Amino acid sequence: MKVIIIGLNHAGCAAARTILNLGGCELSIYDRNREISFLSCGMALWIGGQLASGEGLFYAHAKDFEDLGAKVYVDRGIEFIDFDKKLVKGLQPNGEPFYEKYDKLILATGSKTRPFNVLGADLENVVGTKFYRDAEKAVRILRDPEIKNAVVVGAGYIGTELAEACRRLGKEVALIDIAPRILYTHTDEKFSHLIENRLLENGVKLQMSERVLSFEGDSKVRSVRTVKGEYPAEIVFLCTGFEPVTELGRGVLKLGNQGAFLVDRKQQTSQKDVYAIGDCATIYDNSINDNNYIALASSAIRSGIIAAHNVLGQHMTSLGSQGSSGLSIYGMRLVTTGLSVKMANDRGIDVDYVDVVDKQLPASLRRSDNPDVHLRLVYRKKDRVIVGAQMASTYDMSGGIHMYSLAIQQGLTLERLAFLDNFFMPQIVGNNYYGKAAMRACTT
Ligand SMILES: Cc1cc2nc3c(=O)[nH]c(=O)nc-3n(C[C@H](O)[C@H](O)[C@H](O)COP(=O)(O)OP(=O)(O)OC[C@H]3O[C@@H](n4cnc5c(N)ncnc54)[C@H](O)[C@@H]3O)c2cc1C
Repeated sequence: MKVIIIGLNHAGCAAARTILNLGGCELSIYDRNREISFLSCGMALWIGGQLASGEGLFYAHAKDFEDLGAKVYVDRGIEFIDFDKKLVKGLQPNGEPFYEKYDKLILATGSKTRPFNVLGADLENVVGTKFYRDAEKAVRILRDPEIKNAVVVGAGYIGTELAEACRRLGKEVALIDIAPRILYTHTDEKFSHLIENRLLENGVKLQMSERVLSFEGDSKVRSVRTVKGEYPAEIVFLCTGFEPVTELGRGVLKLGNQGAFLVDRKQQTSQKDVYAIGDCATIYDNSINDNNYIALASSAIRSGIIAAHNVLGQHMTSLGSQGSSGLSIYGMRLVTTGLSVKMANDRGIDVDYVDVVDKQLPASLRRSDNPDVHLRLVYRKKDRVIVGAQMASTYDMSGGIHMYSLAIQQGLTLERLAFLDNFFMPQIVGNNYYGKAAMRACTT
């Protein structure tokens, strides 16, 4: 049996490695990029000088897969798929076409920066935030001491991290968003503000509720004009979101949320023997009990492993996702899973929530290093099923979010969590803030 994988980043790497480990088929892999397995999540660390180089942001190389028996073609894009003839067509670096037949196909074509159509978006030093080449370009530009002002457009997770990164290099930084606050689509206001405070304390200017009108400059960008003002910028980061790359399935494969390939729990698309994984595909979201589009490396890897098993005839189904994610800004850690109250309201889901602010260790210990832990638990009013959690602290409580992620996946009610057997040990965790939120919702 011949399997072809198109795309060799996180989803493609996971699928390829699983197929090669399980064995029993021929595997060809194509990627139009030269670099594979780039951890864009570490891009801000590199750009902000917290990593000396970008080398550590790769965990796989084409040779790893070749050594296991695959044919790997990087810098080689697939241009067209004939789904009836089970044939892919691409172009060689010299422009000559090539063709290859498959028995089973895995699409791992990922996502791309959503076009940001304003005047001047094509000026030099307006940089994307997706690929290694984007990060490399940003690092090169920012190394120049003449570059004093950076503007980051889009205050989601990525924009927020990049604002910190540029500020760490001593640049003047404005973070601009049309939304009224940062992380608007990710967290509730209270948690956005905890991160906003860190940015403000460290000198990042927050320009919220501002629509960008244009990027000004001759060949290089010089400033960013918004409905409210103009901000100097010798570099601009576009962090305005991503969309799935689905051109290869156009007109044939069914699409779902945000135009991603619609897949079932086995990662199978609407076409027999064709699978889609990672950012180009939909995913089942347990917090809404429906398909959704959640572009995360963690989900991409799981989906690759699942597709690989099914391609080889080994039944495996996805448990879905809760969109769990994390962020750390100037030492303030924010972790979330499932729905915020805003996300639930936007979807018309009737929820309530309970907030807890507690000390990490018992206050009676009078420890100076005893930070606050902020926690919000979101649950459906009608059946008290937990649908979301947000946590923030300078203490690393991030692992706790996995428990809430599991609770959402399993459809647990508040009662099940409130009386969970959490351990007590004052030197490690004195306050059972994990259970306290659920307990409070149950007893008030
Ligand atoms: C700055 C940044 C920070 C992030 N931080 C996090 C984080 O902290 N945690 C987290 O879980 N996720 C994070 N993400 C999201 C994560 O990077 C993506 O979810 C992940 O990259 C998806 O992997 P993928 O393999 O599905 O797609 P992609 O990474 O988009 O890779 C798709 C691959 O397909 C190739 N391709 C596309 N079309 C073709 C074609 N026609 N022919 C050949 N090859 C093709 C592309 O060249 C590319 O290599 C972050 C993303 C960014 C940009």
